[in-house]
Amino acid sequence: MDLRTESPFWLMRSGIVRSYPSIKHSFKTDVVIMGGGITGALIAYYLTQEGIPAIVVDKRKIGMGSTCASTSLLQYEIDTHLSDLTKYVGVQKANKSYLLCVEAIHKIKQIALSLKKDVGFASRRSLYYASSSKDVQSLKTEYQLRKDIGIDLALLNKADLTELFPFSAPAGLLSSAGAQIDAYLFTHELLYTSMQQNLQVFDNTEVVAINTHKKGVSLQTNYGETIQAKKLIMACGYEAQGYLSKKIVDFNSSFAIVSEPFESDDLWFENCLIWETARPYLYMRTTSDNRVLVGGRDEPFYNPEKRDKLTSRKAKQLLNDFQKKFPNLDFRIDFSWAGTFAETKDGLPYIGEVSEWPNTYFALGFGGNGIVFSLLAAEIIRDRLMGKKNTGEDIFGFDR
Ligand SMILES: Cc1cc2nc3c(=O)[nH]c(=O)nc-3n(C[C@H](O)[C@H](O)[C@H](O)COP(=O)(O)OP(=O)(O)OC[C@H]3O[C@@H](n4cnc5c(N)ncnc54)[C@H](O)[C@@H]3O)c2cc1C
Repeated sequence: MDLRTESPFWLMRSGIVRSYPSIKHSFKTDVVIMGGGITGALIAYYLTQEGIPAIVVDKRKIGMGSTCASTSLLQYEIDTHLSDLTKYVGVQKANKSYLLCVEAIHKIKQIALSLKKDVGFASRRSLYYASSSKDVQSLKTEYQLRKDIGIDLALLNKADLTELFPFSAPAGLLSSAGAQIDAYLFTHELLYTSMQQNLQVFDNTEVVAINTHKKGVSLQTNYGETIQAKKLIMACGYEAQGYLSKKIVDFNSSFAIVSEPFESDDLWFENCLIWETARPYLYMRTTSDNRVLVGGRDEPFYNPEKRDKLTSRKAKQLLNDFQKKFPNLDFRIDFSWAGTFAETKDGLPYIGEVSEWPNTYFALGFGGNGIVFSLLAAEIIRDRLMGKKNTGEDIFGFDR
């Protein structure tokens, strides 16, 4: 699959952070992880922290799939409202999904801050505003449901919003649990840390054939070398759909722009994350070097050629969207890019086993919370491998 345009901001900013070899011998290991994006990296980190030996293989360079194109907002707020999620999975599982995402952000914080290198992590409040007055009632419902399960948030009315922001909206939810990161750097640092334990990483190494059997799996790579392991973890992002007979995902094209750095590091109220109730939604955040990142204007298709051709027009539209909200900020576009983006029907990830793939776990964090879901996948899979029950496994499993 063609996952993105050539020059997303994070990749341009950090370039080749670390180099990894391609595979040159055959190997035997406990766990092989297919995919060296943020999902594979978090899984590798969790496993090696437990002393489980693992190998990561990636057909691209590390982090250069969807991860380097990610705008990397960390939100507990799933793209599906809590009230709607309840209709898909029931009250208990819907509530638990939201709470697991809150916890996951805390865990990402702990991990990110424990790494030797700065990976652009910052805690941020998150503003979710009503795009039109018809969405006010649903925000009020969300406020009550989320508050009832202990999520820390405030309901803002039009006057509150006007006091805090230069734009107007009829209502908004301001939540304290939110954060931002540089997922590309985070991926490299997680892998680097895990390589000090029991991890080996090979990039430019494509898995071209997979043979699963009673005792494990055997993977053949494009160089003819094989990897034998007790377990396979499929962390190959949106391309994982190609390994499944059931269609679980819809592909969109998404667009983003990043400004030149601003002189001030105080761009709007607490530099919070901002997004809205309209679908597709407009969203924005700041970066650690005082830039503004704006994303959205999604289109409901997977067609890389068409997607890439649209990028400059979408960039102008995003700029215009931003200028309407923040006429006081002189946003000059420094980078623009497009990426394929996948969504599930209920907004939840797919994590766990599938009967057609013995000895294999899938870690598919689709949707706007992809990175938060990657952490949940890492926890669930670690627990499964260690024979422990994880509350998330029934919620995000394939048979839900
Ligand atoms: C424009 C955009 C904005 C986004 N914004 C956000 C956001 O704000 N917050 C958020 O949480 N999420 C966001 N996401 C989603 C998030 O980026 C993804 O969920 C996340 O990057 C997926 O990571 P991954 O490791 O699963 O996949 P990837 O990064 O794609 O990694 C999978 C890897 O598997 C490798 N692979 C595939 N097949 C094989 C094979 N046969 N052999 C070897 N290797 C293979 C690929 O080369 C790839 O590198 C956004 C995504 C996009 C595109």
